[in-house]
Amino acid sequence: MTKRTPSAVNRALAPFGTTIFSEMTQLALAHDAVNLSQGFPDFEGPPAVVDAAVEALRAGHNQYARSQGHPALVRAVAEHAQRRYGLSYEPLTEVNVFNGCTEAIAAALLGLLEPGDEVVYFEPFYDSYPACVALARAVARPCTLRFPDFALDLEAFAACLTARTRVVLLNTPHNPTGKVFTRAELEGIAALCRDRDLIVITDEVYEHLVYDGAEHVSMAQLPGMRDRTLRLSSAGKTFSFTGWKVGWATGPAHLIAAAQAAHQFLTFCTAPPLQLAVARALDAFDADAEAALRAEFQARRDFLVDVLRAVGFDVAVPRGTYFVLADFGRLWAGDDRSFARHLVEQHGVATIPPSVFYAVDPAAGQRLLRFAFCKRTETLEAAAGRLRGLGGAT
Ligand code: GLN
Repeated sequence: MTKRTPSAVNRALAPFGTTIFSEMTQLALAHDAVNLSQGFPDFEGPPAVVDAAVEALRAGHNQYARSQGHPALVRAVAEHAQRRYGLSYEPLTEVNVFNGCTEAIAAALLGLLEPGDEVVYFEPFYDSYPACVALARAVARPCTLRFPDFALDLEAFAACLTARTRVVLLNTPHNPTGKVFTRAELEGIAALCRDRDLIVITDEVYEHLVYDGAEHVSMAQLPGMRDRTLRLSSAGKTFSFTGWKVGWATGPAHLIAAAQAAHQFLTFCTAPPLQLAVARALDAFDADAEAALRAEFQARRDFLVDVLRAVGFDVAVPRGTYFVLADFGRLWAGDDRSFARHLVEQHGVATIPPSVFYAVDPAAGQRLLRFAFCKRTETLEAAAGRLRGLGGAT
C-alpha cells in the first residue's frame, strides 16, 4: 500500500488545486486533441519583435533590469496610453513592468490589501483572482454575469459592495465571456467607486481584441477615475507572445508604488531583452496595426461561431477576447465538466468547462463550454471536422 503524503499547501491556496488551464492542456496532449482550451495562439508573433529580442540578448542586456521596468519600456507604455486613450502617465513613477499581467494582478492585490479587505469582481472570473485575493488574506465578493448577454446588473453589483470593500477588480474585454463592458456600464460602476472611494484594478489584456466595431473603454478614461485606477495590460495577447510574460501597470504614483512594493520581492524584474523587444513592438503598434489585428481575430471568431452554431450549440457571440462561451444544452444532458471530458476523450477537442470560474453561482456556468479561437485556420478547421461528429449533425 502506498502511503499518501499529506498536502503541504497552505490553507489559503489549498482549495484552488491545479489550474484548469494546465489540466485541460494536459488532457489535450494525452488524447492528441485539438486544443481549444488554454488561450494561447498556435502561431508566431511578429518576426521583427523576435529579432528585437535576439538583438537585445546578443547586445548583452542580460543582467537585472530596473525593478520598476526598463526605461525604454515604461516610456513606450506611457506613450501608448497617451496616443491610444489620451491618458497621461509619468513613465518613471506612474508605470511599472511585471512578469505578465498575472504577476501584476498578484502584486497589486498583495501590495494594496489588508487582511479582511473585500474585493469585488465579476464571475465567471479569471482563475488567478480568487487565489490571489486568498493569498492576501482578503475576501472575494463575486458578482455573477449571466449567459447569454452577460449584461451588468448594477443593483446586483451595488449589493456586493459593503463597508469593507476596498478594491473593484474589473476585466474588460472579459475572459471567458468575451463581453466588452459598455461605456454606460462602466459609468455606473465608476459612480459607485467614486461615491465609496474605492480603488479599481483593471485587467485590460484584451484591450486591442474587440470586434464588430465595439469600443474598448478604459475605466481610467472616465471622469474622476484616473487617480483611483490601476490599469493593467500586457504584451501576450496583443503581440501573440503569451509565454513572454511581459505585463505592465499604469496609474497614479501611490497605487503604482503599492504594486511595486510587492513586485520587488516577488520577481524583482522582468527579462530585459523581452522588455526591449516589447518596447519596440508597442512603438510600432499604430491604428493600422490594431485594425489589422482586429480583422484577423474577428475572422477566426466568425469561423468558430458558425461551426458551433451548425453543430447545435447556442452561442453568445463575443465582442472581444480570444474566447466564445457556448451553451450545449441541446447536445448533452450532463454538466460542463462531463461534456468537456467527453469532447476531449471521444471527439478529440479540448475546451474549458467554465463552472470553475464561478464561486457564488456555479450552476450559471454548468451548461457552457469555453472555446478559444486564437488558433491557425488549419487548427480551427480540424476542430470543426471533429465537432461535426457531435449529436448526429452533419
Ligand atoms: N489566459 C489564459 C486563458 O484564459 C490562460 C493563462 C494561463 O494558463 N494561466 O486561457
